[in-house]
Amino acid sequence: AKIKQVEFVKSSGRAKDCPKDDRPEFAILGRSNVGKSSLINSLVRKKEVALTSKKPGKTQLINHFLVNKSWYMVDLPGYGFAKASEAARMDWSSFTKGYFLNRNTLVAVLLLVDASVPPQKIDLDCANWLGRNNIPLTFVFTKCDKMKGGKGKRPDENVRDFQELIRENYEQHFPPWIMTSSVSGFGRDELLLHMSQLRNY
Ligand code: GDP
Repeated sequence: AKIKQVEFVKSSGRAKDCPKDDRPEFAILGRSNVGKSSLINSLVRKKEVALTSKKPGKTQLINHFLVNKSWYMVDLPGYGFAKASEAARMDWSSFTKGYFLNRNTLVAVLLLVDASVPPQKIDLDCANWLGRNNIPLTFVFTKCDKMKGGKGKRPDENVRDFQELIRENYEQHFPPWIMTSSVSGFGRDELLLHMSQLRNY
């Protein structure tokens, strides 16, 4: 399940400009600041896989990385930038929705959700949309090392609250979920194993 090699292939401005869909691929998606770059770098054990999707509203690109010369890891533009205009947000959704609905080789979307905060509407909306459209999904909860004292809830409590809020959209097949921390490396091997199992189905 190890990632031995990663090469950047292409940034695409539109779903139809993506590389030929001839390999299994995983799309990594989440709110801006959810910890996506940290997680990707922890998966590949590199300090800097260049993430061109980082700049809010500027680089709305689908970035394909070829892993071990056999499957794609796809970095999608983050959503929910506080400063983004309504128009920019609509742009994001039509653009990425086109990708989700048309990409035949998509094995699963890894939807990153910050476990250090209570459930956020934009993440719930995204999870519900993917569920309603039968897009295969794995929840990857990030920042599970963060402990909130006082009034805040613990990561496992936030995760449970999140699951409760979307359960009705997933009555039969609740998506798998994995708790991770890019700080401690917790969940990293589980996630890699999970991806290799999904690829081999
Ligand atoms: P991105 O915008 O989704 O790519 O998020 P980044 O990877 O840049 O992370 C956003 C912020 O969250 C940074 O300050 C990171 O140091 C922090 N962060 C990311 N992952 C973790 C984690 O697993 N644990 C903790 N405690 N902080 C994290």
